[in-house]
Amino acid sequence: MNKELCRCFNAIEANILKGLLHHQGINVQLMGETLQGAVGELPPDAAQVTVLVDSDDYQQALACYQQFQKQSSSPPWFCSKCQEHNEGSFDFCWRCGEPSADQ
Ligand SMILES: [Zn+2]
Repeated sequence: MNKELCRCFNAIEANILKGLLHHQGINVQLMGETLQGAVGELPPDAAQVTVLVDSDDYQQALACYQQFQKQSSSPPWFCSKCQEHNEGSFDFCWRCGEPSADQ
């Protein structure tokens, strides 16, 4: 059973994350990546890539993902709705979709 780990705004980020997770022995499935190639007119960052992992691996994948996101330069924020920790690069809460308070 696949579970959505996150959505990346470009295939490069998604593939870096995929490589990191593979290194941890976690199988990763990227969704939306092929679409990006098909829609040639759009800028490369226009499409979202959904990163899916096995639900058994989710917690480990999430820890790895959070580590990955720590490298982001923007300060993290906490969702006002569900209190989830979100990375600074996120405009919306990854868990519930609530917009960042800064927006
Ligand atoms: Zn939230």
